[in-house]
Formats: sequence, C-alpha cells, structure tokens
Amino acid sequence: MTKPVRIPALSDNYVWLLPYAPGLAAVVDPAVAEPVLEAAEARGLRISHILNTHWHPDHVGGNAAIKAATGCTVVGPAREAARIPGLDLGVDEGDRVALCDIHLDVLFVGAHTAGHIAYHVPAARLLFSGDTLFAMGCGRLFEGTAADMFAALGKLKALPADTLVCCAHEYSLSNARFAVTVEPDNAALQARLKAVEAARAAAQPTVPFRLSEELETNPFVRADTIAELGARRSAKDAF
Ligand SMILES: [Zn+2]
Repeated sequence: MTKPVRIPALSDNYVWLLPYAPGLAAVVDPAVAEPVLEAAEARGLRISHILNTHWHPDHVGGNAAIKAATGCTVVGPAREAARIPGLDLGVDEGDRVALCDIHLDVLFVGAHTAGHIAYHVPAARLLFSGDTLFAMGCGRLFEGTAADMFAALGKLKALPADTLVCCAHEYSLSNARFAVTVEPDNAALQARLKAVEAARAAAQPTVPFRLSEELETNPFVRADTIAELGARRSAKDAF
C-alpha cells in the first residue's frame, strides 16, 4: 500500500484516494466525482471501492458518478443505508472490509451523524475519521449528543498514537484558534497554532496529522468528562 492521496474538493473538503494494490484504489468520502476520477486516472489506478463515513452530501456527492464510471462497490454506514447513494455494502462496528491483502476495521463513531463510522487500517497505521476527529477539533453534534462524541473520541484515541489521521476537512486553523482559548498555557498547542498559521498562510494543507498530536493539543480529545466536552463543543459552535 502506498500513501493516501489527498484530493481537495469543494471549499474545504479532502477526499482520500487509497492505493492498496497495483493498479487499484479505494476512495474515501468523494464529495464530487471529476477530480477523483482524474486523480485515479493520472496514477493509473482503477477505483474498486468507495468508502463513505456518513451521509452528508459533501461526503457522498460523487458516489453515483464514480460508481457509474467504474462499477465500483460502495461501502458505507449500515445505520444510514437509505441515505448513501448506490450503497452495496452496509457496515458497522466490528466489521472488516477486505481490500486484497489488507483490511480496514470499521469503528462506529455516531455523534456528528447518528450512524457515522470511521475506517482504521491497522497495517498502515491509518485512520479515516470523516467528520468525527479533526486537527484540534471534532465534528458538530448534528444528530448525536456530547456523550456520543465522548464515546467516539474515546474509541479513536485508543488507537496507536502514531496513527496517521486523514480527516475530511481543512478546519485546523479555526480549530487551533479556538483550542488556545481553552488551553492557553498548553505549549504544544501554541506551537501547533503557529505551525498551522504558517501552513495556511502559504496555502499548504495541515492534514493528515498524527493521533499523538491530538492527544497533546485537541481540547475535545483531552476533555475528561462528557460535560467538559459538551461545554467545549457549545463554545466552539459560538466561536
Ligand atoms: Zn458531515
């Protein structure tokens, strides 16, 4: 397996193309179809699978056209089956998706949406976290509660600390600016804010990132209680 390819889409989405065998790739949360098909073709890759994390249109918008163009298999959250265009295989906590000789473990992380899942690739130390875990942030609670997000982040932060997190949005700068208001004395966070400011000023991406960075700087991952996470999420919504 080679490194996932980050494809910017819409205003701040990242679609991930995952080459997993010679000439074959999966694509995670295709917001749109054309740049994804172009990126695959440019690398001589055939898209065999779409992997969706949740039903929001900026994560499934490219499903139909990519499936029509490639005949790929669409994998997505079983609990949101009716809202995933072209779904072939609904999956949930504990399921495994096999891609040739590698496999992805499905983690249920419902909170941002009620059926949200994440895909963990243990062999490659990769996590596709969708809109659940962002750099220094977490997804808004559209369909779930603070307790749901606390449980979801608890599951993700238990993964190996060197896991590379591929999330679905470039939200790092706004998240960092909020995070320093929560933990103004966190030196690692201050350093990360500076790094993110510099990267964004140079129009560089800040994703992917290591889970270890979140353990040190993400105020939602670092919340000790459901109430603390909930208060931080409400404050960020109004930030
Ligand atoms: Zn979403």
